[in-house]
Amino acid sequence: MLPTPSVPPMKHRLKLLLRRWLSVVCHALGLRGLFRGSRHGVPVIMFHNVGYPKETDYLPGHMKVSERKLRRLLRLVRRAGYRTLTVGQMVEAFERGEQPQDAVVLTFDDGYRDNHDVLLPLLEEAEATATIFVQTGPMKGHLNWLHHYFWVLHHMGPVRVAEMLAEHVERPHVRRDLRSLPADPVKAEYELKRLLKYEIVPEERDRLLEQIFVEAGGDERALAESVYLGPDECRALDAKGIEIGAHTVNHLILSTVDATKQRLEIEGSLRDLESWLGHSVKSFAYPYGRVWDYDDDTLEILKDLGFQSAITAMPGTNDASTPRLELRRLAMCEDSSMAEVMCELDGVFGWFARRGVDLRV
Ligand SMILES: [Zn+2]
Repeated sequence: MLPTPSVPPMKHRLKLLLRRWLSVVCHALGLRGLFRGSRHGVPVIMFHNVGYPKETDYLPGHMKVSERKLRRLLRLVRRAGYRTLTVGQMVEAFERGEQPQDAVVLTFDDGYRDNHDVLLPLLEEAEATATIFVQTGPMKGHLNWLHHYFWVLHHMGPVRVAEMLAEHVERPHVRRDLRSLPADPVKAEYELKRLLKYEIVPEERDRLLEQIFVEAGGDERALAESVYLGPDECRALDAKGIEIGAHTVNHLILSTVDATKQRLEIEGSLRDLESWLGHSVKSFAYPYGRVWDYDDDTLEILKDLGFQSAITAMPGTNDASTPRLELRRLAMCEDSSMAEVMCELDGVFGWFARRGVDLRV
């Protein structure tokens, strides 16, 4: 899933506006192609859900891209002469000393069922490939706390959820913050998610959200089955040349748990996927993916388990010098304009970032 934005919402919104304005100008005036010659590194784009199946209604819009939009992107990518690679293929190219200037990598996090039902036909139609990072806990009927959170948020709104949490939370400062959320619903939601991610004791958060979810009539197993890929769908995707990568069992913020727990999470998802697919799995994506969401222990565990690469959600592109266990990605969703996407691929924002104007998100 996407990380919580790391900058205040207002600053973030201004950056998005400037980025959009620049991309429209470059796209409309045909300027973006001028940047392509100095494009630096391979862009890896991060998506989550594809299409709008009813069972994913409770998931937030920033995790979704429509079938229509993705089809259009795939057409534009092809028309611009780019080829798609998996993360594994990109890293292998780096290992061979190649710098694939004409490549783009599409990745899809968490392992949603729509990646099989909606995405796979789109990729086949476009003769494209991708990497899907699968969280394996839901296939055993376990949803992570964020699903409980999104589901209760969808049904009750942030203020009611915060009130219910405040009745039970132990830390007094968190209780106080939960009871004084901003009046603006967007700001309230942002603050509530920040408190849940970084202020509440993780075990307490998980327990309370699950309790609220169940009290509100949520059915964890049914929801997990309807929303996530199962082993059969993973095998079908793998058979079509789509790379399946690991994304932990329960989508924890790895830096918030000890090394033993981290290993259980990472190795657990690796072994699950290897047993379902019948071959080794070499790529990993960090849950949430910001640098503070993993630590040195995580890197050691990944090395020890033989992962060839691990990818973050930190902005930027990748080349042979990018640390293999800290690859970079660019997040996209339905709200991203096509002009923005194509400017990313042609290296427009990278060009500005190298000159001190960082408009990457
Ligand atoms: Zn994720």
